[in-house]
Amino acid sequence: MNSEPQFRENVFLGDLNSLGIAARARYFVSVTSVEALQQALDWASARAVEPLILGGGSNLVFAGDFPGLVIRMAISRRCWERIDGDEATLVLGAGENWHDSVLYAASAGYRGIENLALIPGTVGAAPVQNIGAYGTELRDTLVDVSALDRHNGHEITLTNSLCHFSYRDSVFKHEPGRYVITTVRLRLSRSRPFSLDYRDLAEYFEGQDVHDLTPLDVARGVMSVRRRKLPDPAQLPNAGSFFKNPVVPLETWRTLQKSYPDIAGYPGDDNAKVAAAWLIDQCGWKGYRNGKVGVHNRQALVLVNHSNGSGQDVLALADRIRNDVQARFGIALEMEPGVVGG
Ligand SMILES: Cc1cc2nc3c(=O)[nH]c(=O)nc-3n(C[C@H](O)[C@H](O)[C@H](O)COP(=O)(O)OP(=O)(O)OC[C@H]3O[C@@H](n4cnc5c(N)ncnc54)[C@H](O)[C@@H]3O)c2cc1C
Repeated sequence: MNSEPQFRENVFLGDLNSLGIAARARYFVSVTSVEALQQALDWASARAVEPLILGGGSNLVFAGDFPGLVIRMAISRRCWERIDGDEATLVLGAGENWHDSVLYAASAGYRGIENLALIPGTVGAAPVQNIGAYGTELRDTLVDVSALDRHNGHEITLTNSLCHFSYRDSVFKHEPGRYVITTVRLRLSRSRPFSLDYRDLAEYFEGQDVHDLTPLDVARGVMSVRRRKLPDPAQLPNAGSFFKNPVVPLETWRTLQKSYPDIAGYPGDDNAKVAAAWLIDQCGWKGYRNGKVGVHNRQALVLVNHSNGSGQDVLALADRIRNDVQARFGIALEMEPGVVGG
């Protein structure tokens, strides 16, 4: 049974975003079905207010209050579809918690997303930036997504190739607001090899026979490594990596290497991904604190909200870091979280 969406006014969002920014939504509604989502979108257009789809709020900076309708995605669904041999398709509603879904799949013995354990947020937001960690990206297992196309109000299916995934990027970032993802389908397997090459993971599992490992063991290993490296937003509010690792042509990488032999990055065939954390650390920002906001003392990529910082405080700090990196290395850092409100 679908319940009618309940619209509320002037709602506090401080506990609905992982940076803990004390913004407010002019209007707010939580939706648990596609029908309720459609009603919420119609409600916003009838009042000519902008809608914002909110998942777990772990990849957003509220630059101020949101003047439109915040639609909290709460569509839940979890089921297995098309089980053939070693493979199965996991169908997930957009409002499901991503990490819980990883554990659900891993507990059932299915492999493919275990390296993405402990990434905060909802299933529906995962395709937006093609979440990735420890050598795995969502696009490696995603079959398709169901979405409402706000251009024509139709429910559509976007296959993996139509999502135009790349590093922390997808069609959903290029056409912001057009698609509201309602369901995600993943193709998982009981036998595909684990991806344990990433240094931290390789170290964690060193000496263990990979044939003895279950997907749940790998997920737990990832969780342990992540807990050591990244601050928990519940203890120290943050939005994870604040900047993408910049991609530069190989020539630029080689020139940088001449000046900075210890530069950290991942050179490929045509270009190289430079470790943004290394660039920021070199500019002396790691551990910086200005009272309210700062840079984490173990991970220079993570900006943190120590004490009631506003979105503007966080963005001002991000600008200073970006300017320093640009001036010193000639590299433009791109922010990973989206900026809304204000
Ligand atoms: C401690 C920490 C660690 C993190 N580690 C990683 C990591 O390892 N790898 C990684 O890739 N990311 C990481 N992130 C970033 C973040 O967790 C992911 O981007 C996550 O997918 C965001 O989910 P969310 O539900 O919180 O999205 P939100 O922040 O609520 O929304 C993000 C964007 O997606 C849009 N959106 C949300 N739901 C939908 C939907 N159903 N349909 C269409 N658009 C939608 C929103 O409008 C917004 O533009 C980390 C964040 C934190 C705080």
